[in-house]
Amino acid sequence: MSQHYDIIIVGGGMVGATLACGLAEEAEQLKIAVIDAFEPRLEWDKDSYDMRVSAITRASQKLFKRIGAWEKIVAQRVSPYYEMFVWDAASPAGSGELHFDSADMGETDLGHIIENRIIVKSLHQRMQELPQIGLYCPAKLQSIEFTQDNVHLCMEDKTELTANLVVGADGTRSWIRQQADIAVKGWDFDQAALVTTVKTEKYHQDTAWQRFLPTGPLAFLPLTEGYSSIVWSTLPEEAQRLTQIPEADFATELEQAFESKLGKIESVAGRAVFPLRLFETMHYVKPRLALVGDAAHTIHPLAGQGVNLGLSDVASLISVVVDALNDKKDIGELKVLRRYERWRRADNRSMLVAMDGLKRLFGSEVSLVKDLRNLGLNLTNKLTPLKNLIMQQAMGIGADSKLK
Ligand SMILES: Cc1cc2nc3c(=O)[nH]c(=O)nc-3n(C[C@H](O)[C@H](O)[C@H](O)COP(=O)(O)OP(=O)(O)OC[C@H]3O[C@@H](n4cnc5c(N)ncnc54)[C@H](O)[C@@H]3O)c2cc1C
Repeated sequence: MSQHYDIIIVGGGMVGATLACGLAEEAEQLKIAVIDAFEPRLEWDKDSYDMRVSAITRASQKLFKRIGAWEKIVAQRVSPYYEMFVWDAASPAGSGELHFDSADMGETDLGHIIENRIIVKSLHQRMQELPQIGLYCPAKLQSIEFTQDNVHLCMEDKTELTANLVVGADGTRSWIRQQADIAVKGWDFDQAALVTTVKTEKYHQDTAWQRFLPTGPLAFLPLTEGYSSIVWSTLPEEAQRLTQIPEADFATELEQAFESKLGKIESVAGRAVFPLRLFETMHYVKPRLALVGDAAHTIHPLAGQGVNLGLSDVASLISVVVDALNDKKDIGELKVLRRYERWRRADNRSMLVAMDGLKRLFGSEVSLVKDLRNLGLNLTNKLTPLKNLIMQQAMGIGADSKLK
């Protein structure tokens, strides 16, 4: 006997779990299943920091508030940041810089740095409070079959589920996307991201710092108690080397790469490397299927937009599903789902192209390109309206209308 749901979400990560909570909040009549291959970690040493963090924009914060997850996140730990400082390693000191300040924009902050495990835990707590959500976790999927009227999913333990719509929120290597035979367009970067947490001699001033090196950007993201989360994008073999050298040597190299902006690196936690990819799927939807988050598009972390784009997918898909329900339409119908695809594709593609362009621009060693980017950064820094526009885009303020 199979159990029927209106919507099955495969992947209970930051994007999939937000979608489940949002749908349950906005359309109480829906029965939703969330399937994840792994159980989330819900306990950890409170003195440690997750090495994976996300810069959460104002738009994403609003969505978390709307679904009742924000208070749970804040009750654990968040780090608002008020300024952002970006500079080019190839420029002479004092030039090729960009500085953003929330006060200049009349904003309380520019966003929040939040540990991924805190976001996932809060979302799982919220899912437990919503009776329409059935959580299957850990659960391994074995097969999926699309018919005209529904989707049929079978798990390794022989549990069978059917639904009107299945949503693939299962990350960059999405099983659902592969089963649905949806091709991706993109490429692996010649970069990998080394992540770790450090304590610096000088306080980070609640500022997000990013230095563009020819091999990739190096970011120091502010955490509580003067700690910083590091995302160091560099050549894959260099990232591997940096994880293997002794902690003291790593601290010295990191400090040099960062021009000692925050003084000495006093301590370094565990180090890990993530390969970087950039792609977009050829289709976000098929009959009875929608892809969201990294399953649909994966970008370079240099502007901290990956999960924020996924959360914008969520806001749009909720809106499309709710409209279809109000109009008594089938939520798995291609015509309904195409609206979601049209809505999100343009936004996501422009961010993908912008991230790729930035990565190439700052990676160039051609001196004319170096001079031009220097000039561009300095000019942008002096043009307040342009600077504010860039920041508003980065904060997701322009996307507000989608989150009402
Ligand atoms: C180094 C680094 C730094 C980053 N920094 C930022 C940042 O500052 N800001 C930002 O916005 N983004 C950032 N990103 C991007 C961000 O981490 C991703 O965009 C985000 O994690 C995507 O969320 P997701 O829920 O779509 O996918 P995931 O987080 O990958 O979640 C997928 C879920 O699906 C589950 N799953 C996978 N396969 C299956 C299966 N077969 N069956 C069932 N379940 C399955 C997994 O267990 C997981 O729970 C960064 C990325 C990297 C690599």
